[in-house]
Amino acid sequence: MIVLEDVHKSYGKLKILRGCSASVKLGEVVVVCGPSGSGKSTLIKCVNGLVPFEQGSITVDGVSVSDKKTDLPMLRARIGMVFQNFELYPHMTALENVSLAQIHVLKRSRAEADAGSEKLLARVGLGGKLASRPSQLSGGQQQRVSIARALAMDPKAMLFDEPTSALDPEMINEVLEVMQALALEGMTMMVVTHEMGFAQRVADRVLFMDGGEILEDTPKAQFFTDPATERAKQFLTKVL
Ligand code: ADP
Ligand code: MG
Repeated sequence: MIVLEDVHKSYGKLKILRGCSASVKLGEVVVVCGPSGSGKSTLIKCVNGLVPFEQGSITVDGVSVSDKKTDLPMLRARIGMVFQNFELYPHMTALENVSLAQIHVLKRSRAEADAGSEKLLARVGLGGKLASRPSQLSGGQQQRVSIARALAMDPKAMLFDEPTSALDPEMINEVLEVMQALALEGMTMMVVTHEMGFAQRVADRVLFMDGGEILEDTPKAQFFTDPATERAKQFLTKVL
């Protein structure tokens, strides 16, 4: 579903990604971890075309992200992205946040979009919060709205960039549970997270990044018991 081949990305003279290759198969859950500044966010943003890269290729369901002929807004619409800071529209209700892109990008009628949004908000446990604005919701609830919003576009895959890092500890599990349910339903997912419990429960494979490189691409069981690199071992002693 997602294939990265030798992706290089620099900001000015600073090399951020130094030849990253990886793939995520249909229905697979891949957790990306590694120290702060290792390039995890940059990598995941390259996958949905938010960040351009100089060299290499990325395809999502066979469509090239960097090909100038690709309809990038449409491709991006079909890859769900969930950020650390929710990125909801503050002046809109939960329902309106989830319906907006369905109406403007997928050209659904408002009635059709709202009906879909209601179902999705119920699915993430927010059936009673349709009319609430973000400021009236907890961080965990806001993040679940943003997951519902991403799902509303019928995404081929979902990308998560530290979705629980901005949350109070007591709200982390309600978001991880929604993500776990999605994974069990067969969603293809790439998840940047330091929640190693989630990785142990849900991931198929773990990518470990350091210094702009993917140092490990390892089945979950092996990553946690016998990582291949010393740097991953050190990282695990800090996060486990
Ligand atoms: P991570 O998500 O693993 O913490 P990032 O991908 O955010 O890492 O960042 C990797 C490196 O790229 C860091 O050194 C960061 O300072 C740098 N970086 C990220 N975004 C930009 C940017 N827009 N301009 C310049 N440098 C950036
Ligand atoms: Mg990051």
